[in-house]
Amino acid sequence: MKLTIHRGTHEIGGSCVELCSEKARIIIDLGMPLVDAHNEPFDSKQLEGKGIPELIASQLLPDVKGLYAGEEKGIDAVLISHPHQDHYGLLRYLNPEIPVYLSKGCLALIQASDIFIPTKANLRNAATFEMWQPFTIADLVITPQLVDHSGFDAAAFLIEGDGKKIFYSGDFRGHGRKGKLLDNVLKHPIEDTDYLLLEGSMLGRDSGLYPTEQAVEDKMATMFKSKNNIAFVFCSSQNIDRLVSIYRAAKRTGQTTVIDLYTAYILNNLRDVSNKLPQHWWSDIRVFYFHGHVKTLQDNGLGSFVKECLSSRIYKEELSRDRKSLVMIAKYNPAFTRLINYLGDSDGALGIYSMWEGYLEKKDFRKSLQRRGMEFQTIHTSGHAPEQDLKRLVAAFKPRYVVPIHTFHLQGYQSLFPDAKVRPLNDGEELIL
Ligand SMILES: [Zn+2]
Repeated sequence: MKLTIHRGTHEIGGSCVELCSEKARIIIDLGMPLVDAHNEPFDSKQLEGKGIPELIASQLLPDVKGLYAGEEKGIDAVLISHPHQDHYGLLRYLNPEIPVYLSKGCLALIQASDIFIPTKANLRNAATFEMWQPFTIADLVITPQLVDHSGFDAAAFLIEGDGKKIFYSGDFRGHGRKGKLLDNVLKHPIEDTDYLLLEGSMLGRDSGLYPTEQAVEDKMATMFKSKNNIAFVFCSSQNIDRLVSIYRAAKRTGQTTVIDLYTAYILNNLRDVSNKLPQHWWSDIRVFYFHGHVKTLQDNGLGSFVKECLSSRIYKEELSRDRKSLVMIAKYNPAFTRLINYLGDSDGALGIYSMWEGYLEKKDFRKSLQRRGMEFQTIHTSGHAPEQDLKRLVAAFKPRYVVPIHTFHLQGYQSLFPDAKVRPLNDGEELIL
């Protein structure tokens, strides 16, 4: 068996891993980079107007023979661990004959979000797997395992073949709404793992403001309880755990949660995967219509969904009138600015930033909200395991080798796991297992 990490040995994002056995060649994740060669945020506009050979030559696409459209198929399958763009964002270039294996929730979330944020993911040949149900690709046996992560329905993969066991951690944590999954893995680690490909997003980073998703919910509830104006919570509509935390905090304090049509559409598309997710028809949910979302849905033949939400629609006059009892999930954009201009009196309103603070540095909106008299707070917890949880995982698995991936701190692995053999790789380097 041969392992090649085509991208991800020295960076977070752009993940692409190849495993090659006697009879199979598979790719795990085909992600969009998060940073460019100068460690600046990656601008996906760089991809536009370029053909696949040019994208490979400029190292925007990993150089994997037989993976892309327009060439002879040389890969048997692509596995996608979870619906974050740094793990699936380059699927549009995939040879459409290659099957893509992913969880039901991952597929639903990618398809729903592609309408609003088009990555044009090529999923015509999608095959969904069930967690903990092994499936085979030629001589490889793959067992997906549900993990706790800010990405929905996320998987780690146990891959067995050629007498070897490889465990790909994907992105994971143990402090989210499904934290028990990590406890279970620690209690029942996979024995005789040869290679543990372990994400290290949190190496060299401080573990963040709030320790758990529950702590995020509790802090929000405390803030909602004493507010006397509307609360805006800025978060990703794809972070389903967070949407649930906000909804629960609002419910606990007798508040109604206002979502936009984009969020309503995402949640609605996941209803078959989980019946616990807040939906637009729930009595304590209202839907605000931004013109851009209405148009996007209509342009994609989804006008019926716009109509379906009408019974929960909330108009701006109601937002103004009932502001004390409302929590609105928001995005900072011109349409939002127009809305707060309409609402006027921002005194005592809350602006809660609930995403990675790294995104905040580039934006001026903290000041802009404070200037209007809003109270600004960051309430967030990471989607990734802090160092102590990575240590617990390595101690439980006792793998023959730990292979660093999805990290900016490759050099931190050996000191973090002094008792383990760490096998660092370079992008594109082939390792015979
Ligand atoms: Zn992720």
